[in-house]
Amino acid sequence: MLLATGARPATGPFAQRVARLVGLWEADGRSDRWLAGGTAFFLLNCWSMTPGRPATPALRDYLAACRTAAGGGPGWDALLRHRINCPGCGVSWSLENIRACTGCSSYTCDDCQEADHRGEFCEVVG
Ligand SMILES: [Zn+2]
Ligand SMILES: [Zn+2]
Repeated sequence: MLLATGARPATGPFAQRVARLVGLWEADGRSDRWLAGGTAFFLLNCWSMTPGRPATPALRDYLAACRTAAGGGPGWDALLRHRINCPGCGVSWSLENIRACTGCSSYTCDDCQEADHRGEFCEVVG
């Protein structure tokens, strides 16, 4: 998965990685196996909801397919109620109150993002 990396940091700006992923999805007949789930889906969804993002028709279709695969609106709401521990400090957060870093595709709380991360931070908006 191009977006969720962990041990091996992804290279290039997030927008480029997203575009590459959407390209692979299209080239593979829009196969479900390229759809983002979990943290990658959270990142993508939050990232795309921020005003001013480049949104091609293919990207919009890709996000719609990811949302459908993740259970649509109810699936997204359920995901946001999910609790995780911040990898930096171990404090428990629900996903609607934590951010994800586009650099390493992991979740991070406010306190840890300054110290531990260099990416752009995506969170639930609106
Ligand atoms: Zn933390
Ligand atoms: Zn990071």
